[in-house]
Amino acid sequence: TPEQIAGGKVSSSQCMFGSSLAREAALGLDFWAKDCPSVEGIGFAVPGPDGTPAFSWSSRLDLPAQSVDQRVKMPKFMDEFERRGGTLVIAAADVAALENYATTSDLVIVAAGKGEIAKMFARDDARSVHTAPARALALTYVTGMPPREPYSSVAFNLIPGVGEYFVFPALTTTGPCEIMVMEGIPGGPMDCWGDISSPAEHLERAKWVVDTFTPWESARSAHIELTDANGTLAGRFPPTIRHAVATLPSGAPVLGMADVVVLNDPITGQGSNNASKCASSYLASILEHGDAPFDAAFMSETFERYWDYAKYVVDWTNALLSPPPEHVLALLGGATGDSRIARRFANGFDDPRDFFNWFMDPALAASEYLQPVAS
Ligand SMILES: Cc1cc2nc3c(=O)[nH]c(=O)nc-3n(C[C@H](O)[C@H](O)[C@H](O)COP(=O)(O)OP(=O)(O)OC[C@H]3O[C@@H](n4cnc5c(N)ncnc54)[C@H](O)[C@@H]3O)c2cc1C
Repeated sequence: TPEQIAGGKVSSSQCMFGSSLAREAALGLDFWAKDCPSVEGIGFAVPGPDGTPAFSWSSRLDLPAQSVDQRVKMPKFMDEFERRGGTLVIAAADVAALENYATTSDLVIVAAGKGEIAKMFARDDARSVHTAPARALALTYVTGMPPREPYSSVAFNLIPGVGEYFVFPALTTTGPCEIMVMEGIPGGPMDCWGDISSPAEHLERAKWVVDTFTPWESARSAHIELTDANGTLAGRFPPTIRHAVATLPSGAPVLGMADVVVLNDPITGQGSNNASKCASSYLASILEHGDAPFDAAFMSETFERYWDYAKYVVDWTNALLSPPPEHVLALLGGATGDSRIARRFANGFDDPRDFFNWFMDPALAASEYLQPVAS
């Protein structure tokens, strides 16, 4: 229920970039635009051997990003859905329920995220790269962290061989906060949440991670407190692409959307953005289809249209989960002295397709920004 979500555990850091926020605004769903702190830029740092950053830089986003805790957002969206004429049924959707919906509806879409029911959509082995979790994930929602200067940012710290630490402002159930996101390489020193048994221990471990691996972030974390006892999360999952159409025992097809079909690691902060873009793409396909039957062929075509965007997000995300190749290190290091690179990297989060014009390709990176290697 909306009350259970509002009073439950955090589920994400859900930072959404300019075009996703613009889509919500166009639909009149930007209820928190004024109250939610803006994320105005992206800062990047990699540690050097002496505990200070080997390099660090930041760049403003062309359009600000925002993160509204899903415990705030989803209950309001559920109310709004009903206010606009939707019928909301609070129940676990199992196969029997889907069969029932399939006989009474033109189209059944399953948007169950990482829920068990998503497994009825077969893994797409050709499009899935991972067979195991790529990171051990942890979220810590805190207050008492001074704002980043000179403008609010996602502070993106990449610790080679260990993992990543991000922190950025958000709006939670108790008001403005900062969300600490930790992504530990499995089996490494930041994969350190298995023995935690209380929120207070989780907070202490989060501070330890910051002090140990990103000491330049320690001063901001010196006096942090949890927003609430449900403001922590730790877990892991294998990033997975699934076939978009599942067939119920009766033979009726159903269509998967968002995380059900394209589940990425959160390292690039794309999942909520993708969910929004998937919904928008599906809506356009549905409206264009008119009164024709919403059969399996329609469902496949609808997904492929979304995949034509999402495949770039998946490839870029998987690239950031791997040890960075030489040209990527050169670009990220070069951004310190070349604001063009910093600006392009930061703004790529809003539409990662642009990374394929430079960042993802050594030859394009060289021709755009790096000295070509002499032949
Ligand atoms: C640690 C972490 C950090 C993240 N940070 C970011 C970020 O900064 N930016 C970003 O864009 N994305 C981020 N994401 C990803 C983002 O949260 C998800 O991609 C997004 O929420 C997916 O939306 P969805 O609607 O597909 O699924 P979900 O948001 O998971 O929603 C699915 C819903 O379906 C319900 N459900 C499941 N099974 C059933 C069933 N059988 N019957 C009825 N209901 C069911 C669930 O309870 C849930 O409410 C992060 C994720 C994690 C884990």
